[in-house]
Amino acid sequence: MGLTGAGVVGAIGAPWLRAVPAAASQAGALAPPADIDARSADLVVYNAKVLTVDPRMPAAEAFAVKGGRFAAVGSTADIKALAGKGTEAFDAKQMTVVPGFTDCHNHAPGNTLLYEVLVGNPFEVEFVTIASIVDKLRAKAQKTPAGGWVDGYFFDDTKVKDNRQLNVHDLDQVSKDHPVAVHHRGGHTSFYNSKAFEMAGITKATPDSFGGTFDKDAAGELNGRVTDRARAVFNRIGTRPAFTPDEAMRRDREGLAHISKQFVRYGLTSVHHEGGNLAALQQVRARGDLLHRVSYESSGKQLEAMIDAGIATGFGDEWIKLGATSEHTVDGSFSERTMALSQPYIGISPPYKGNITEKQEDLDGWIERVHRAGIQVNCHANGDVAIDMVLTAVERAQKKFPRPDARPKITHCSLINDALVRRLKATGTVPAMFTTYAYYNSDKFHFYGEDLMKRMMAYRTFLDAGIPAAAGSDFSPGPFAPLMGMQGMVTRTGWNGETWGANQRITVDEALKVNTINGAYASREEAIKGSITPGKLADFVVLADDPHTVDPSKIKDIAIVRTVVGGTMAYQA
Ligand SMILES: [Zn+2]
Repeated sequence: MGLTGAGVVGAIGAPWLRAVPAAASQAGALAPPADIDARSADLVVYNAKVLTVDPRMPAAEAFAVKGGRFAAVGSTADIKALAGKGTEAFDAKQMTVVPGFTDCHNHAPGNTLLYEVLVGNPFEVEFVTIASIVDKLRAKAQKTPAGGWVDGYFFDDTKVKDNRQLNVHDLDQVSKDHPVAVHHRGGHTSFYNSKAFEMAGITKATPDSFGGTFDKDAAGELNGRVTDRARAVFNRIGTRPAFTPDEAMRRDREGLAHISKQFVRYGLTSVHHEGGNLAALQQVRARGDLLHRVSYESSGKQLEAMIDAGIATGFGDEWIKLGATSEHTVDGSFSERTMALSQPYIGISPPYKGNITEKQEDLDGWIERVHRAGIQVNCHANGDVAIDMVLTAVERAQKKFPRPDARPKITHCSLINDALVRRLKATGTVPAMFTTYAYYNSDKFHFYGEDLMKRMMAYRTFLDAGIPAAAGSDFSPGPFAPLMGMQGMVTRTGWNGETWGANQRITVDEALKVNTINGAYASREEAIKGSITPGKLADFVVLADDPHTVDPSKIKDIAIVRTVVGGTMAYQA
């Protein structure tokens, strides 16, 4: 696909542009590296407000693309001069162009979006009723053989109109013959009906297991909510549809192709995938249906295979590359209030400090092994206690086996303090923090209170410390729209008008960096991605408005006009 609306402009050679190395900037233009001849560009974009995220020339009017890469950046006159006979030209009519956005943490649950019962809105703030959840699941139960699981996804406990918790009694209305589960979009808690508890042999007398809880109501009865590792017992009961390998592969392909379309619709050109079917991903690419670039994060058998085979981070190409490991989980969830805090949660008795889901010695061993194998470590740690544990293990591994610029990644890295920031900096750790939460989950911050929120999703603190904070939506838990993320970073004000941790606000330019070049840095790709710089991959987004000039509370509403990946149009409004 090429850019539409193309006109051919006159071809005038600009030979000086050819020989100038990328490091030098000349006469108000960023020239191409020696291996790109910018003349007869494939595409020129002009009359634009280009926010390059390249400090050598932060703003420009135009750029040229050749061979899928940016070839030159500069004034409209300079860049138009690079057009030849076959050049497509796009008059941006003063619209804003930014580098393609990167999401550094995404579960990319395309199959769930396509095939499962969604009891909440994956992409936007929307309130639902418990009755609507029960209705949707009842319809599913009617098509499901007795004993088979009836599952609902994308539940959000603070986006319910009924203003109370979903419970076991609600789900008993779905079915008495099927085990029923409603999974919180946060991924760390689920709600079950009585049949599921009965099949799993869980009663109110069952003790909580390590790393999880069976929650009770005021009368001491099971209320339906089960947290973190306590849910493992439900994996052993009930049935779910079995697919032949071919069917399973087809579903995975369709799911990935589906979510790829969603990513580019919101301006994402690079996404760090938490695992998923790598073979299906390659097939989707081969069919031309992969619209975004993937940093693929491995775990389990796949990670073992990498270690065995000596495959390190960076293996692959510009479309599918093996990145860090997938998140190695050390504690619970932010949105579901199970993350491991050094102080008890407000108003919970008996006092509760969240769930640690791995012991320090196991974490030490895992990090050392992965680090030694030349693979970028990535741990999920939300609470200050969990972040401390990860850093302890990282420091230990780096001391035993020094490796320069290893860039261990901490996914979420939510609650920090000064000592943790110093250790993050010293170890070169890259945090990938929640992006859309400040807007989307503002209704949950009262569970933590302003004192903690001042130290949560601490973009300001990290940037001031010189730590390249990156953005990770964690989709499903958070919507992935980068502009919703940017709005929250800039305003710290949520959909409900509440502002939490205003001290962590960052500027529009900083938020742009977080969502572009810092994301590229997190996957060790800052040399080829993350800014509109000659020589880098031509991934960019055309925005209908400039986030600097719109009302900050409307940044999320700026229309994505086009998303272009490698010079090819991946989305057009
Ligand atoms: Zn995650």
